[in-house]
This record gives sequence, structure tokens and C-alpha cells, in this order.
Amino acid sequence: MDNLRFKALEIELSRKPNNFKTAEKVSGYYGELTFSKTVMREYLPHEAYKLVNHAIDQGDQIDRKTADQVASSMKAWAIEKGATHYTHWFHPLTGSTAEKHDAFVDPLDDGKAIESFHGNQLVQQEPDASSFPSGGLRNTFEARGYTAWDPSSPAFILDATLCIPTIFIAYTGEALDYKTPLMKALSTVDSAATRVCNYFDEDVKSVSATLGWEQEYFLVDNALFRARPDLVLTGRTVFGHASAKDQQLSDHYFGRINERVMNFMQEFEYESHRLGIPVKTRHNEVAPNQFECAPVYEEANISVDHNQLIMHLMVRIAKHHNLTVLLHEKPFSKLNGSGKHNNWSLKTNKEQNLFSPGKTKEDNLRFLTFLVNTIKAVHDYGGLLRGHIASAGNDLRLGANEAPPAIISVFIGQKLTAMLDELEKGNNWIDPGSDEQNINIPKIPEILTDNTDRNRTSPFAFTGNKFEFRAVGSSESCSKPMIALNTIMAKQLNEFADKVDKKLDEGTDKNQAVMEVVKETITESKAVRFEGNSYSEEWVREAEKRGLPNIPSTPAALKTILSKEAVDLFEKTGVLNKKELEARFAIKIEKYIKKIQIEGRVIGDLAINHIIPIAVRYQNTLLENVKGLQEVLDQKTFTGLSKNQVQTIKDISGHIQEIKDNVTAMTEERKIANKMEDHEKMAFAYNEKVIPYFSSIRYHIDKLELLIDDELWPLPKYRELLFLK
Ligand code: ADP
Ligand code: MG
Repeated sequence: MDNLRFKALEIELSRKPNNFKTAEKVSGYYGELTFSKTVMREYLPHEAYKLVNHAIDQGDQIDRKTADQVASSMKAWAIEKGATHYTHWFHPLTGSTAEKHDAFVDPLDDGKAIESFHGNQLVQQEPDASSFPSGGLRNTFEARGYTAWDPSSPAFILDATLCIPTIFIAYTGEALDYKTPLMKALSTVDSAATRVCNYFDEDVKSVSATLGWEQEYFLVDNALFRARPDLVLTGRTVFGHASAKDQQLSDHYFGRINERVMNFMQEFEYESHRLGIPVKTRHNEVAPNQFECAPVYEEANISVDHNQLIMHLMVRIAKHHNLTVLLHEKPFSKLNGSGKHNNWSLKTNKEQNLFSPGKTKEDNLRFLTFLVNTIKAVHDYGGLLRGHIASAGNDLRLGANEAPPAIISVFIGQKLTAMLDELEKGNNWIDPGSDEQNINIPKIPEILTDNTDRNRTSPFAFTGNKFEFRAVGSSESCSKPMIALNTIMAKQLNEFADKVDKKLDEGTDKNQAVMEVVKETITESKAVRFEGNSYSEEWVREAEKRGLPNIPSTPAALKTILSKEAVDLFEKTGVLNKKELEARFAIKIEKYIKKIQIEGRVIGDLAINHIIPIAVRYQNTLLENVKGLQEVLDQKTFTGLSKNQVQTIKDISGHIQEIKDNVTAMTEERKIANKMEDHEKMAFAYNEKVIPYFSSIRYHIDKLELLIDDELWPLPKYRELLFLK
């Protein structure tokens, strides 16, 4: 077979932009594929609509009769929109989404058929889900788990199928998914935050967490993608010498979007908008072929669902444009990796953002309270947050130059830092520009408008009226960080309120009591605040002095999930019990092992069966050439002229030898690891003993790439993968 790389390049060169145009304005089709409240109002009897609406807002149960009515209106609506099937759409512990479609159609005795869909089918299903990872929670011989409708996230139509967001739990009650604990985390942060809000405003009845994610991704031409087995099987390039030019001129960031990419973006935005996903921002990112998409923020549960859905849409729609989306955290070495910043805030039922200072003293004290409690939560549970964003892919990104380090610290900006420092010293904050000399509650709005410097190196930064958790990996579900963040916040807020209540019982004035606990909290959480360059070596040393965890690898990070503090935290808040945590740990460890195992195999295969044969072939050409020269030249001229050729032959031999030795040694380490009974040990063995060979093998292969005739090289090179025309 001819060189696949050149065939792929030929295909790539012949691509024409696949135009995507819609004449309609967005507001005309926005949300047309979601069973939204507006649709429900139209399709449901008024009483039923009121009941469902109430259930959605308050999280109440929906009775059987109402469920039947909802099912029948969903069916009518979905069939009108061309749907033929329905499915429960859930988030199993694989980390992606799952669905099993059933047709609406039911045969009748007379050879005809009708479409049917009832309340019981809407509310609960029992997928034969024995092959989903359960971490031992559910034995395969009793593969009983069921999915149950989550009315708070609207049903939608995808591929002519009505998709109903559901939770997925075992018959014994344990969660087998990510949505169940997410909903519990959101409910516990709701009660805790409402409790704290009530110090300042008794009318606050509920608080919801909001999430606005920023999805980074790469695009590569589909033919070139197919010619790279590493991209196909692992999502990243395991070899590849840097392109002479890549991101060093910063000419891609915010640059003009190329036509082919624009057509892709327009089509997936169109499909997203039809599904009611409020995508808003698009731009070129730092690395060539790297892009970002961000929506308007939404209630966290819905936002998580929408992110899962958009990842699916992107991958699918890219194919229409002969493109492949890479969601991996580090598809190309030495170039920026991809993250998924999780912008997070808390909002009351009165639409107040709890991270926005207000006009009154009470509002400002509330702002301060939520600010310092967040800092304290991250201070106490930085390791746990790290554990909830851990993956083999993210390990390659975290701590690299463009990505937040594995040390979780909080950035709040100079002004807020100065304010917290003053408050801690016991000085009542006096705004320098203010006439009021005796205010005992900071005047925050002025401070915030001043605070424009944003530290891009921080993994957890306060950015005006929200926190931005930047360490999340691009391919991961936001539910993991959202479960962790909202749970630690709930626990912290309750602790805070307990302390305040105690002071109130002792007769302290309310503002005074809150202020005293705020001060204590500032002191206790100070170590996690860092305003400097988080990418620097000094920070690594400084963080160590401060006792902040720096967990570089996934196996170690995952251990935080089962630490005593973590089990206490999740059990006390009721978000996950010990058994469920153990199952999650087991599944994540297993996933890590498998990912590294696959990478190891791909590296071995490419090295031995693709690269070395080509290196040998080129070496033979050089040998022929040298022999030829020797025949036609006299010995003295030959020795002079063949020096470089001979050196290249030696260099190639040296690299081939090193590659072979390293692949053999890596395989031996894999064999040792594979024999281990204890999966935790196996994961550490893969991390410590197998992974180091990845870079040593890569080093020699990337050197060969520079030595070998370009015409022979089998894999598309970085310069070819990275610059879509
Ligand atoms: P940047 O890249 O500068 O951080 P972007 O505009 O790309 O800013 O992203 C900001 C993100 O923050 C958007 O997804 C937006 O929806 C989200 N966001 C804004 N306000 C809030 C909020 N109150 N709660 C949650 N997310 C928010
Ligand atoms: Mg951002």
C-alpha cells in the first residue's frame, strides 16, 4: 500500500468548504427541539402544567396521573416533530451518556399499529445495563438498575428520538451515575446557602448553583486523523516533532476563523440552539486549530446536561465538514492543551448573584460571607477538588506551562486581598477614597470595579461575580467538579452558620457575629490564597511550605476520593455514601489503567511496526548510496565525502536500538503491572513504571522524524495536522 499519509494529504487538499446556511433568525428556531415550560404550557391541561411546574421548581414528586398526562403530551409533541423513538438519557459512570431507544409504535391485533407512551415509561425504565461499570455495586448476575425521570432538565429530540434526562440507580438504592449525586449536591448547597442568606434577607427561599462552561477543543481534517492510529485510538498524538512554526507568534488566538471551521461552528451552533443550548461565544484559541465555545450560564444541572450534549453534537457535526473534533486534554505535545473552565456562582430565588456585592451594607456583608466561605472550602478540600478533575489526559495538561498547576489555590485580586488582610488584622476596612471613616463593612463595589487584573495562571480564580475553576479537563463531564465544589461549599456554609448561630445564642448582634466568624474564616483559609504566577517554580516551593497538596498524578489524586475527610464530607452531606465512593474510586482507577494500557500498546505498535521498518528502509537507501560512492570514488575522496552519510546511518541505528530497547522494557513493565491483583497498586505501577517509557520512546522517534526522508515518513506530521486551510 502507498504511504497513507500522502493519500490523506491529497484528500485534505481537495476539500471544499461544506457550506452551512440558514436564512431563519435564531430566535425563530431557538429551543424548538426541547420540551420546555412553554411547550408544556401549550400541550398540558392547565392543572397538570401547574403541578409539573411546581415539581420542577421545588423538586416534589409527580403523581401518576400527572405523569400520564405529561407522557401523552410529550408523545404528541415529539411525534409532531418527527420523533419515532424515545429513550431515557442518562450519565453512567463511564463519564459519557447512554441511551437505549424504544419505538413509540405498538402493533395492534388487526395488523395495524398505534403510537403509545405512558407515564410509567416516562417515569421509570429498567435498561438491561449489566455492562456499565458499577464498581462492584451491582453484580452482573442481578443486573438490576433503573433510570428515573429528572423533570428539572427538559426532554429534547435528537436523531428523531425523544430523549428524557434521567438518573440511574441500582435497585439497592446506590447511584450508578453522575446525575444522582450532582442533584443531591445541588440540593444540599441550596439548603446551606439559603440558611446563610437568611441572616441577611429572610425572604430568600432557595439558592441554585449556576454553571457556565468554556469548552476548548481541536479540529483536524478527518483523512489525516484516520492516518494517525494514535489519534484514533487514544485521542492524542503519542509522537510528532514540533512544527517549525506553531503557536509562538500568537497569531491564532482570537484570529479570523477559517471558512471551513466557521461552517462547522455555524452548523453545530444551529443544532445547539434548536436544542435550547444557549451557546454564545466562539473564538480561535492559542494553539493552531484550537477553538473555544461558551454558552450563557444556566442552572448547574441543566448546564451539565447541555455540555454533555454539545460534546456529542460537535463530534457528530464535525463529520459533515470532514473534520474530527479532539476533546482530549493534550492532543499535541508542547502546544497548549484544552481545558473546560467551570464558571460557577450561586443565585437566590430573587435572582441575586451571591458573588455580587450589592448596594446595602447587608448585601456587602453577604458578599463577603460567600467569598470567604468559598475560599475556606477550597482551602480545606483542595486535594479533593484535584481528585475530582483527575484523568490520564488531564495529567498531561496540569502543570504544563499553559495550564493551571496541580496545586489548587485561589486568586481573588489585589484589592480583595488587601481588604481581607485588613479585616483579618481586625481593622475595620476603610476604603481609601471614601469619606466615611468608620464604616465597619467594606464598600465593595468600588473595590470590584478597580479589580480588573485577572490572573490567568490560577486554577481557581474570582472573576468579578463568579469563580472560575480552570483545572477541569476538556473531555470530562462537568458533573464531577460540580459535585465536589457544591458539596464542599455546602459543608463549609453549614459550619459557618453553626458558628454564627452559637454567637447569636450568646446574644451577639447579628452583623457583629457574622463579621467575627468571617474574620476567623479569613485566617483559617489564608494559605490557599495566591496572587502570583501559579506556573512558576517558586510557587511549587511556596505551596509546599504552606502545606498545600501538590498531586501530580491521577492515581494519587484519586486516593483523595476515599480519604477519611472525603468520606465524612460526602456521607454527612448525604451526597454519596462510602460504598458509592468506593465504587467510583474503583471505576476511575480501572479507567486510568486501561487508558495507559491502550497508550502503551499503541506506542509499541507504532514504534515497532510503523516507524522502525521505515527507518530501516531509509537506512538501507543510505547504505546503498554509500556503497555506490565507494565504488566510484577513490578511497581518500570517499572517506571525506561519506562522513556525514555514515554518521546519519549510525544515528538512525542508535535511535532504532534505543526504541527497541525501550519498547521491550516498557512491555516488561506492563507485564509486571498486569499481574498485580490490587488495582490501586497496578495504577501506580502504570504511572511510575510504564509512563516514563512513553517520553523516552517518543524522544527517539521524534529525532528519527528529523532524519528520515519526508517521502517515507508514515504519520501525518504536526505541521500537516495543525493548519487547516
Ligand atoms: P473568559 O474567557 O474571559 O473567562 P468568557 O466570556 O469566555 O470569559 O466566559 C465566561 C463564562 O462565564 C461564560 O460561560 C458565562 O456564561 C459564565 N458566567 C458568567 N456569569 C456567570 C455566573 N453568574 N455563574 C456562572 N457562570 C457565569
Ligand atoms: Mg475563562
